[in-house]
Amino acid sequence: TAAAVEDLITPQVPITYTKHLINGQFVDAASGKTFPTYDPRTGEVIAQVAEGDAEDINRAVSAARKAFDEGPWPKLTAYERCKIILRFADLVEKHGDELAALETWNNGKPYEQSATAELPTFVRLFRYYAGWADKIHGLTVPADGNYHVETLHEPIGVAGQIIPWNFPLLMFAWKVGPALACGNTVILKTAEQTPLTALYVAKLFHEAGLPPGVLNVVSGYGPTAGAALASHMDVDKLAFTGSTETGKVVLGLAAQSNLKPVTLELGGKSPFIVCEDADVDQAVELAHFALFFNQGQCCCAGSRTFVHEHIYDEFLEKAKARALKRVVGDPFKKGVEQGPQIDVEQFQKVLRYIKSGIESKATLECGGDQIGSKGFFVQPTVFSNVQDDMLIAKDEIFGPVQTILKFKDIDEVIRRSNATHYGLAAGVFTKNVHTANTLMRALRVGTVWINCFDVFDAAIPFGGYKMSGIGREKGIYSLNNYLQVKAVVSPVKKPAW
Ligand code: ADP
Repeated sequence: TAAAVEDLITPQVPITYTKHLINGQFVDAASGKTFPTYDPRTGEVIAQVAEGDAEDINRAVSAARKAFDEGPWPKLTAYERCKIILRFADLVEKHGDELAALETWNNGKPYEQSATAELPTFVRLFRYYAGWADKIHGLTVPADGNYHVETLHEPIGVAGQIIPWNFPLLMFAWKVGPALACGNTVILKTAEQTPLTALYVAKLFHEAGLPPGVLNVVSGYGPTAGAALASHMDVDKLAFTGSTETGKVVLGLAAQSNLKPVTLELGGKSPFIVCEDADVDQAVELAHFALFFNQGQCCCAGSRTFVHEHIYDEFLEKAKARALKRVVGDPFKKGVEQGPQIDVEQFQKVLRYIKSGIESKATLECGGDQIGSKGFFVQPTVFSNVQDDMLIAKDEIFGPVQTILKFKDIDEVIRRSNATHYGLAAGVFTKNVHTANTLMRALRVGTVWINCFDVFDAAIPFGGYKMSGIGREKGIYSLNNYLQVKAVVSPVKKPAW
């Protein structure tokens, strides 16, 4: 496999946008500083990007504040906002090839996935929320006494949004889509590893007619730019996706500043439960996808593969064979299933967890090492004989490391699945509707995928129980994150009915 990461394809896409996008203009950082962004295939620098800190966040917040308070965004008709969002979706589709290439170059995920999964899902999500823009309205309320009572569903104001690096475009969509559809203005802080595609699509949004100041994109690091956004007194709402550890930090910053409401989408250690009656070949394939998709860098990865004891040996043999067949290499090459991890920190963290698995006496079935000497490639790795108290069964590894655990009966697997502080998602693989129903209700998680995994339709809500987060994104549920409810009460002389 070492040869697989040589002879890299040079992406044919210019890197045009590297400055902050504030008030409709590309601008340098206030400090004049830049920071490098890398190609994870090689660890080499591909561009220097403006490095934001508190002053850039201040400028972006002022622009967003003005665009909210003075308009035009919240004052446009909902239909005008809807049309701009639809035009944006069309433009993204038109530039899809370039955007997919840029996403792969900066993130390392297979180009085929950028082009056929991430881009279409991005476009679909904006069209979905464009559809909501003109369907948001309040209620009339039958209160006691002679009063006319109604509710206004108003935009919440200036939204600060902090996103991670694992799905740079998708995370942009989940955050920006509902916020803008509801009439808010936004400051988006991208992950320091992946600043490029957000700047590109934000430019397209302005071409589609978005007024200046409505969407501002600032690149930079978490403890500087991110923390300034989370603690800003003029930001009315914070949405964050990232690690549970950082989620606690930003929630604290929001509380200590102006008590802005916070939506958090955090880590997970999701069970993938393969029941006794499962078709083993299909279960192996789905469990493999649930864990290895996106280099294992998914908050909802099926990272505890529970397999019933009666089929355990057969499953294990086939899961190992499937991992050995996984095609790792240059993500720009056709047929490649797995590219590099995002950066040297994540790469080393994954290798440390593999070492911990070996030391704790789990059985290393295959993989376990890096590939080549350049970039951040990790062998698809499978551990069997994993026990619940091992670190590899408890912590979020965020890499291509499958841990397989054996179970005897449904009650036991429910108890063990729920014995974690996380509660993001679960996979259930069974032909028995009663088993599926029992598990579906007993699992304390935000999403249960039954005989499928990682289905991310724009209309399906996503979010975590327990320490996997607060609130839901996507679907109708995300609208509440970006709306205030105003009750309006006035006396009426005589009730009309
Ligand atoms: P990871 O460890 O996977 O990089 P993080 O949760 O640290 O995940 O990062 C997710 C996002 O949170 C990134 O945009 C990052 O810059 C930002 N971030 C990191 N630390 C902070 C912080 N102290 N305050 C605000 N944002 C932060």
